[in-house]
Amino acid sequence: MTGDAPHLRADFDALAAIGADPAGGWSRPAYGPEECAAHEWFAARAHAIGMSVRQDAFGNSIARLPGADDLPVLVIGSHLDTVAQGGLYDGALGVLAGLEVARRIAGDATPQARPLEVIAFRDEEGRFGAFTGSRAMAGQLPEDALARMRAADGAVLGPAMAAAGFAPARADAARRDMSGIAAYLELHIEQGPVLEAAGEPLGVVTAIAGQERFSVRFTGEAGHAGTTPMTQRHDAFAAAARFADRFREMILAEGKSSARGTIGIVKLSPNQGNVIPSEVTLGLEIRDISAQLLADLAARVAVIATEAAEAMGVTAQCRRSYGAAPVPMNAGLISVIEEAARAAGFAAPRLPSGANHDAGVIGALVPAAMLFVPSVGGLSHAPEEHTDWPHIVAATDVLESVTRRLLGARDIPSC
Ligand SMILES: [Zn+2]
Repeated sequence: MTGDAPHLRADFDALAAIGADPAGGWSRPAYGPEECAAHEWFAARAHAIGMSVRQDAFGNSIARLPGADDLPVLVIGSHLDTVAQGGLYDGALGVLAGLEVARRIAGDATPQARPLEVIAFRDEEGRFGAFTGSRAMAGQLPEDALARMRAADGAVLGPAMAAAGFAPARADAARRDMSGIAAYLELHIEQGPVLEAAGEPLGVVTAIAGQERFSVRFTGEAGHAGTTPMTQRHDAFAAAARFADRFREMILAEGKSSARGTIGIVKLSPNQGNVIPSEVTLGLEIRDISAQLLADLAARVAVIATEAAEAMGVTAQCRRSYGAAPVPMNAGLISVIEEAARAAGFAAPRLPSGANHDAGVIGALVPAAMLFVPSVGGLSHAPEEHTDWPHIVAATDVLESVTRRLLGARDIPSC
């Protein structure tokens, strides 16, 4: 335990100067000058505590404390990019806490047996498509996907990477043999209200929720809003509204605290006040940590869409646009974190992660675990994003004790 963790605080103060947005918050878009400056700063700080640092072909920064070469490495990771006008803690916390843990361990009289790496991934926030850095490391970015990756502001991944000094044509060079990684740890802000409401300074993630996304189109018939009797309409919006209500009830009826359903997109045609809508397209997503429940809920989307359509005399078409399986965190690592947290006097409740993280990409391939700290007001992706300093210090101390245990063990506990 190191009390107030002055080095960690100094690191936050220094990083806060990189990408501070005059309009508020922090803007470090992937492969932009601000994210690059943050990676350069990270490399310098890691060098200063005796770590070797390299950047892979996608610009992921990898800082390493040496250990026995025959032992797979323990990785602590997260990201340094932000959404536009984001907060100080999303991603940055995991990287800086990893650096702090490495700093403490580098100061030991006796070196640890297992190598330790702290990795700052690129483009976690998805300027170009989400988790670009960790997916490249995981070998999940085929060349044809790379060519399609462009930002909402029109920037194209290849030229943006080239401007930052990297070559997207060498994507394969960022691919890493995952058998060389023993385990992956990530400390992140919760970005939700659960831990704060529970009055707990830290929690342990059980699984990262999977997602199913659909586009649902209701097709009816346009008509005069004044002359068409209510009983003779084919109102696409009436069907969409009925569907929206049933969809919400379906998610709520599960009674599972981790199930989420959101209709975030509504496109209505012809979108005129005096015309009965002829077509409505809804974009929706469902999340849960259970693959089975996720599949069940997804299967029922088409059923309730058809029911709603028939009730309103229109037709419905469902198209699945995206799917990602839930990623359970490693049971053995969860136990190690719980033991360390409880030894430090924290209850460390378990909770699911509704948001995806680099741990969701790497954790699908190697044993992984995450710690969460509370987000004040549940706020994130906003300048007001905040976590109380004592919670950051407590979680970093627990991360240190977990790291020491895993670095000292020849076999990483896993289930
Ligand atoms: Zn993040």
